[in-house]
Amino acid sequence: MSPVPPLPTIDEVRAAAARLRGHAHRTPVLRSATADARTGASLFFKCENLQRMGAFKFRGAFNAIAKLAPAQRRAGVVAFSSGNHAQAVALAARQLDSHAVIVMPADAPAAKLAATRDYGADVVTYERRRESREAIAQRLADERGLALIPPFDHDDVIAGQGTAALELFDEIGQLDALFVPLGGGGLLSGSLLAAEAMSPRCAVFGVEPAAGDDGRQSLQRGEIVTIDIPDTIADGAMTTHLGERTFPIVRRLARGVATVHDDALVDAMRFFAERMKIVVEPTGCLGAAGAFAEAGRWQGRKIGVILSGGNVDLARYASWLSAAA
Ligand SMILES: *Cc1c(COP(=O)(O)O)cnc(C)c1O
Repeated sequence: MSPVPPLPTIDEVRAAAARLRGHAHRTPVLRSATADARTGASLFFKCENLQRMGAFKFRGAFNAIAKLAPAQRRAGVVAFSSGNHAQAVALAARQLDSHAVIVMPADAPAAKLAATRDYGADVVTYERRRESREAIAQRLADERGLALIPPFDHDDVIAGQGTAALELFDEIGQLDALFVPLGGGGLLSGSLLAAEAMSPRCAVFGVEPAAGDDGRQSLQRGEIVTIDIPDTIADGAMTTHLGERTFPIVRRLARGVATVHDDALVDAMRFFAERMKIVVEPTGCLGAAGAFAEAGRWQGRKIGVILSGGNVDLARYASWLSAAA
């Protein structure tokens, strides 16, 4: 058995931050007197919904592509995703004079296919029921010499995602708790590395959809637990398992994993629209919904919340906001 390579550290997160400077936005940290009054805590919202292409995923994708050897970068990259990772890889590749091929399901929303093409990527579609996207992406990688950029289980992706929390601690200082949306764990593990270095007593929690609590189960069992694709409006967290690289970091450093139901995500979306005038997608609300639910334990304390993205279909968004509260 080959030895497991050492996990990424804060040094890689800091190096990623240097690479991203001038390319990614340093997103604002917003406050809300209403949120503070409701929870009794001081909340700091790191607004990755205002990141380039609308989500933190630009950070990891850019860092991973920037680290490729020049010849590999020129040859191009491939990713499979129907969500934010697709647009992140497409945009980052264009920024870095590389070229992206994105494997997306043929029945993905037309707006998402168009947005990915608009960022300059070639889109290869596949039939969900007949083909495996991993196999197609791997075949494209082999045939065309493309580098595969995974959505979360990759050290350079983890390091890039950690730069959002790094900026938050850099700006606010020590925090008592930090709530982070959790899918495959790239954002959470990067945030954990940042917290360990910048605010060692900060309790960091992943927050995942109640319908897809594989992260919580994995922490309980001490091994990666795989579940069926969960039914939730948090489409960026419909992952079935944590990664081989993310799980050990989450296991070592996370205080816990909380779960929230979809109705709490809708409440949070409405709060951000009505009170803070910002659009946050359902997955982007996971950390906030977790913080709102747990705030009773953090009275008078400083709580960080990562709002991870703001890409949402406007018709669905309107229907969520207008449904009876
Ligand atoms: C991908 C994504 C997540 C989950 O990130 P992981 O690194 O897979 O845990 C959360 N929020 C948004 C908006 C995303 O696009």
